[in-house]
Amino acid sequence: MRVAIAGAGLAGLSCAKYLTDAGYTPIVLESRDVLGGLVAAWKDKDGDWYETGLHVFFGAYPNVLQLFKELGIEDRLEWKEHTMIFNQPEKPGTYSRFDFPNLPAPLNGIVAILRNNDMLSWSEKIELAKGLVPAMLRGQKYVDSTDSLTFSEWLKQQGVGDDVEQGIFIAAAKSLNFIDPDEISALVLLTALNKFLQQKNGSQVAFLDGSPTERLCQPMVDHITKRGGEVKLNAPLKEIQLNQDGSVKGFLIRGLNGAADELITADLYVSAMPVDVIKLMLPKPWQQNEFFQKLEGLEGVPVINIHLWFDRKLTDIDNLLFSRSQLLSVYADMSNTCKEYANPDRSMLEFVFAPAKDWIDKSEEEILKATLVELETLFPQHFGGENQALLLKYKVVKTPRSVYKATPGCQEYRPSQVTPVSNFYLAGSYTMQPFLGSMEGAVLSGKLTAQAITAQASLEAKSSSKPTSTLQPATNAATA
Ligand SMILES: Cc1cc2nc3c(=O)[nH]c(=O)nc-3n(C[C@H](O)[C@H](O)[C@H](O)COP(=O)(O)OP(=O)(O)OC[C@H]3O[C@@H](n4cnc5c(N)ncnc54)[C@H](O)[C@@H]3O)c2cc1C
Repeated sequence: MRVAIAGAGLAGLSCAKYLTDAGYTPIVLESRDVLGGLVAAWKDKDGDWYETGLHVFFGAYPNVLQLFKELGIEDRLEWKEHTMIFNQPEKPGTYSRFDFPNLPAPLNGIVAILRNNDMLSWSEKIELAKGLVPAMLRGQKYVDSTDSLTFSEWLKQQGVGDDVEQGIFIAAAKSLNFIDPDEISALVLLTALNKFLQQKNGSQVAFLDGSPTERLCQPMVDHITKRGGEVKLNAPLKEIQLNQDGSVKGFLIRGLNGAADELITADLYVSAMPVDVIKLMLPKPWQQNEFFQKLEGLEGVPVINIHLWFDRKLTDIDNLLFSRSQLLSVYADMSNTCKEYANPDRSMLEFVFAPAKDWIDKSEEEILKATLVELETLFPQHFGGENQALLLKYKVVKTPRSVYKATPGCQEYRPSQVTPVSNFYLAGSYTMQPFLGSMEGAVLSGKLTAQAITAQASLEAKSSSKPTSTLQPATNAATA
């Protein structure tokens, strides 16, 4: 059975991968000339990589980890020391760490919090525990119910003071959804905390050993094509054409460079495009349907990724860092964290710049200038005095609409992978799955779509004795 999938981000590729495993023939149609969507990366003229976003993998990503295993590329994940490192704005150039000891969860997380005396006073630790422990104990149902509140509102309800919000949770909210705690749904932070604290290595991070495009997406493409599937770049979906009954007749692909448009037909169709794109592409007859109307409640959030190459080493830290500064969010010295970007003599700092709504339309020079001001506080030893670090080059990548903006009430608008149209499915990290707008969410969504397709086929074939796939998403305690 042939399945046409629009979009070669992680969701589209994951869907195609699991469909080939189940004996289907997917054809993935990607608008751009690069794989990966939000994990796409490019090489500059010097051969240096730059990326859409700084990406880290977590121990609490069961479906991504299983995918790496299935592709035989587990050794490409470079696991870092289990610690969370925050800059201390009040003491420029210094760090505060939450070190997770080798104890079972959630004890290791509790010890990590209790041992940190720079960022939380004892009274703040007690305040926070009083708010968080019941949230952890009451499980996902309680967490789901917090989607009506911003995280700031939830903290206030729990009696947690502004200092804790300022100290830790601005950094956490910005790293998870590129917005501040007074905008982000409480559900996002509580879901992440739940997954991170309930699994021993849940919050441990790994970096990929090279660019996601080559080191993760390409092996997915190889897996798909080896089994008879196809992945086409430069194949933008222009229009979803319908049959009389409202089902999909074909995907019309825009011809590039003067070529004619081409109608791709298949047995089934999947949109693995961003929510902002599918919203614009809905055929007229579907627009009145409540299922599709709900998509209007979702919108991608702007974010900027900035790369800075210096003439020297600025740090030897080999891990993710939380800048806790106004405009910058998480960052890493990729010359330490990633084998293919490694350089023993020079730093390449990669920063997520967020919230970006007031900056997305500004020039690259303005964005660089603002970044360098914050860098002076992060690395005062390299930006004062006579022998200052020299910026060799920089690269800014703007994404005006990235993952869906997870403000209160959004859960209600997230669609299932199965749609009311019999031969049309959705995939993408915005679709309903418990890992929100993440790589794990994208991979899981694609897998759920493949699972829904195979389940439907087995229903239709249930009269025959034909064996069917038993594709299941990987779960762990945190996803249950
Ligand atoms: C700056 C940044 C940092 C991030 N950091 C992390 C992190 O550390 N950890 C983590 O887990 N997640 C992180 N994420 C989130 C993660 O990247 C996304 O959740 C995930 O990659 C989304 O995958 P997707 O397949 O759902 O969507 P997308 O990646 O958006 O894929 C959609 C695809 O559809 C294609 N498309 C669009 N229009 C058309 C068309 N007309 N025809 C055909 N194709 C089309 C696009 O080009 C794209 O390839 C980060 C995201 C960003 C932006």
